[in-house]
Amino acid sequence: MAELRRDPTTRRWAIIATDRWKRPNDLIKKPGTKAKRACPFDAGSPEIAAATVYPHFTDPDKWKVWVMPNKYPALTYEGMPKTTIKGPFTTINAVGGHEVFVDSAKHSATLAKMKPVEIEAILNGYRERFKFWKDDTRVKYVLIFKNYGQEAGASLVHPHSQLAAIPVVPPTVVEEMEKGERHYKDRKHCIMCDLIRDEIALGQRVAFLNERFIVLCPFASRFPFETMILPRTHGSNFMDITNDDIVALADVMSRLFKRMATLLGDPPFNYLLHVSPQYAPNLRFYHWHIEIIPRMTEVAGFEWGAGVYINPTPPEEAARELGG
Ligand SMILES: [Zn+2]
Ligand SMILES: [Zn+2]
Ligand SMILES: [Zn+2]
Repeated sequence: MAELRRDPTTRRWAIIATDRWKRPNDLIKKPGTKAKRACPFDAGSPEIAAATVYPHFTDPDKWKVWVMPNKYPALTYEGMPKTTIKGPFTTINAVGGHEVFVDSAKHSATLAKMKPVEIEAILNGYRERFKFWKDDTRVKYVLIFKNYGQEAGASLVHPHSQLAAIPVVPPTVVEEMEKGERHYKDRKHCIMCDLIRDEIALGQRVAFLNERFIVLCPFASRFPFETMILPRTHGSNFMDITNDDIVALADVMSRLFKRMATLLGDPPFNYLLHVSPQYAPNLRFYHWHIEIIPRMTEVAGFEWGAGVYINPTPPEEAARELGG
């Protein structure tokens, strides 16, 4: 059983997963101790047989993704979230969901190698799971993310992403919402819609764009080649995006991951989808986006201590290279 604990001095949350020690050693990749075991995400495995399948919206026979509960969940599916406050200590039992998307039937597929239509299937799976979780009132937030490569936290090679349905709104999103709401009150516009307009006018940090999506290297990027993908038309949730949006998003993702692989030697990365909270799916002041973070620099003492990142690659340079 895990619990969410809020630090009384910083208000940061941590999931204390007291049963995580059970995680089998053979999933932890250490040189020389790799246990050979069958990939749980390959066709024929019991996990795949029991998984929910989401076929592609135009090519259902060919492209699919599979969704299954995480074998080592950080959150418990059963029960109700209960907040306990003892003096300065706030705890919520970690009720929600923790799922795995098997992004492809092919064990060695990567986003850089996939056809855009294969990425469309993954995005369709994400959209379906957002819809699935939307009526669960225990859940305040659904976070979809991907860890690619061992250094980025992936314990399995087979292409996969994850979903965490959690009973609190993550502080990262709270902060973005607060900034967005303030901007909206002052200017009557969404902060991200304004940013997109300004960045396009400036032309220095736009890696590339298509009719519906823009790929930016953020002004104050924390990491080399950090990027953000944003819809060019305002929207705060992912579950209402159209099939045409998915096609256009897969197009920019395919281009970005191919370019990243060529330019940076198939780097490890994380990406995450930031959407509005479950209870407020349509916000004028929150603009959904994907943050992509290549993991090529270490987060070290200065970053931990100051919360300020040292980035050796200017985003203007990164945008030029990624757009090239
Ligand atoms: Zn596999
Ligand atoms: Zn907007
Ligand atoms: Zn964000």
